[in-house]
Amino acid sequence: MAKGFQENKDRKEAIGSFGKSIGKRAGFKCEWCESKDELRVWDYQPDLELETDTLALLCQRCREWADGRKADPQELRSIRNALWSNIPAVAEGASQGSGQMQRGFGQGGDRGELHRRRRHG
Ligand SMILES: [Zn+2]
Repeated sequence: MAKGFQENKDRKEAIGSFGKSIGKRAGFKCEWCESKDELRVWDYQPDLELETDTLALLCQRCREWADGRKADPQELRSIRNALWSNIPAVAEGASQGSGQMQRGFGQGGDRGELHRRRRHG
């Protein structure tokens, strides 16, 4: 158990050491919505080895979305550009974060559900 804790701590430190290069890549703006609000490095794949591709600089609001907070479609428009990024943590992360948006848009909810499942498999 203590080991898990230690690993967690090491990872946090490792993320910290990536902070500078991620910040530079991001231009010190949120990589999803370009806000400058409480920027922090977000770990897109906590189970995989750390690399810059799976880290993104996110503002507080976007980190909440990444955590699964509900966002209304209006808000989510601000991260549309992120979907075109070639950085997985930005593009895939944002599309997952905004996945809930499709539910709101697709009037025949079932169809959207199917799409998402197919993409997964
Ligand atoms: Zn943001």
